[in-house]
Amino acid sequence: MPRQRLGQHFLIKGSVLERIAAAACPTRADLVVEIGPGRGALTEKLLKRAARVIAIELDPYLAEHLRRRFAAEPRLEVVQADVLATDLAQWGRAAVAGNLPYYITSPILEKTLRLDVPRAVFLMQKEVAERVVAVPGTSAYGFLSAHTALFADARLLFAVRPAAFHPPPKVDSAAVLLEPRRHPLEIGDGEAFLRFIGQCFSHKRKTIRNNLAAIYGKETIDAWPEAGLRAEQISLDRFAEMYRRLS
Ligand code: SAM
Repeated sequence: MPRQRLGQHFLIKGSVLERIAAAACPTRADLVVEIGPGRGALTEKLLKRAARVIAIELDPYLAEHLRRRFAAEPRLEVVQADVLATDLAQWGRAAVAGNLPYYITSPILEKTLRLDVPRAVFLMQKEVAERVVAVPGTSAYGFLSAHTALFADARLLFAVRPAAFHPPPKVDSAAVLLEPRRHPLEIGDGEAFLRFIGQCFSHKRKTIRNNLAAIYGKETIDAWPEAGLRAEQISLDRFAEMYRRLS
């Protein structure tokens, strides 16, 4: 992929870098996996707070730059690879952090949410961050919010203006903290449950009746108290109740 398409907007504002590193490692961490280290601005901050950092960078020129820049730092391992093709569990339980390449924010989230991590802190497009943390009944709430909530408690930490990057992106950004759900949902096959939620959201403006009747039968769905609601009004716990009725 050409380099300009790799989402290379480098953070230049020290205070933002500090805040991301502090959120990823609130106390000294054994290990942090960094996604998309670029030229190493966040890597440097993470190395101050973690015993070891694994940095996964797709661009071979940047990976080489990092190896040279941190040649005297044995606590850093630079992995030149596509994060989406990398087994992130191979180093054991680790915090995950990154100023993400925005073009693959969703697949990175999908992957990280399924990992056993103490926490993950990501900088992403603000509009996506708002969808990640959104609650039912708000316009930002959708499949991404419910998907995230199944695995994690998500919090928007702070917004970041384009001027904090070089070159500046066209959009505002925000940092999001993901921590494992405090009260895991008892739902059996989580992936099947997510497919059900996807069906509920298949046409966001339509009611549950209109989205589900053709799949599960009109009579079944008409009997549900949620039949006339839209998915964007329904919490994850309520989706779980609906899903359990089907099995
Ligand atoms: N962390 C750096 C910073 O804040 O200055 C750079 C962040 S930049 C937004 C995203 C980085 O992710 C770039 O260095 C880009 O080359 C890298 N990248 C893009 N796609 C990637 C992929 N599939 N796997 C790993 N890194 C990727």
